[in-house]
Amino acid sequence: MKFLAFNNGYCTADKKYIDKKAESRKIKFPATFFYLEISGIKMLIDTGYSVKLVKNAGITAKIYSMVTKVRCEKDADEILRENNINPQEIQNIIISHFHPDHYGSLDKFPKASIICSNEAAEVLNVGKTGKIKNLVFEKLIPEDIKERIIKLESFPEVKVSGNNFFNILNLNEIYGFYLEGHAGGHIGLYLKTLNKLMIFDAVWCKENLLGAEPRKILKKVAFADEKKYESSLREIKEILCSLKDTGGAEPELIITHDEKFLRSPYEF
Ligand SMILES: [Zn+2]
Repeated sequence: MKFLAFNNGYCTADKKYIDKKAESRKIKFPATFFYLEISGIKMLIDTGYSVKLVKNAGITAKIYSMVTKVRCEKDADEILRENNINPQEIQNIIISHFHPDHYGSLDKFPKASIICSNEAAEVLNVGKTGKIKNLVFEKLIPEDIKERIIKLESFPEVKVSGNNFFNILNLNEIYGFYLEGHAGGHIGLYLKTLNKLMIFDAVWCKENLLGAEPRKILKKVAFADEKKYESSLREIKEILCSLKDTGGAEPELIITHDEKFLRSPYEF
């Protein structure tokens, strides 16, 4: 089993936006993606940004990149190659949600199947304005995406320590669950043997789970549904408590934009 985190860029914002009581300082939010090798299957979890996003994915993508100060010089496949991982061997990509820092390099993996929730897949079906609102930039979405999507809901629902999860690829290792609030169809993952709980953009720093509030403006801009954001936080805490492993250790929490992932590759 192999599990590594990489980033292929970052955006910059003031820490005060994600924790309104924090001291003002500029921080970099890495566009993290994860490589997982498990039961002979090689997969990615999210794909980070892409160079195209900054350069030629249309005017809205350009504005988004400028406003959030995106830096990206390499696509995810290039980062993998530099780390002796053959991007052509990636069989599956789990997309936590369709925001450009998560699906940016998706078109660099034409052979992989794409696993996402039904609601996330629906985001790809909305009209032009809806797509812009949801940050789905058409030029970054592979043309054949619909044929390659495997919906989370197609996997059996199972109970693990009292939680309802989807047993992704029937491996009894990667369990998906809904984490609403931030984006349409956002999902989280529980990696059983690795004992990790991946909550992606459900929060942007650990302090949010301990009660630190993001600024109102960020809540409005970055969270599709504030109420669901709050209930997701409660759910994450409950899952964390219930999932203590046999040794009694809580799963390690993985947050996409955690500063620690600025170190790339990041070995757990
Ligand atoms: Zn997001």
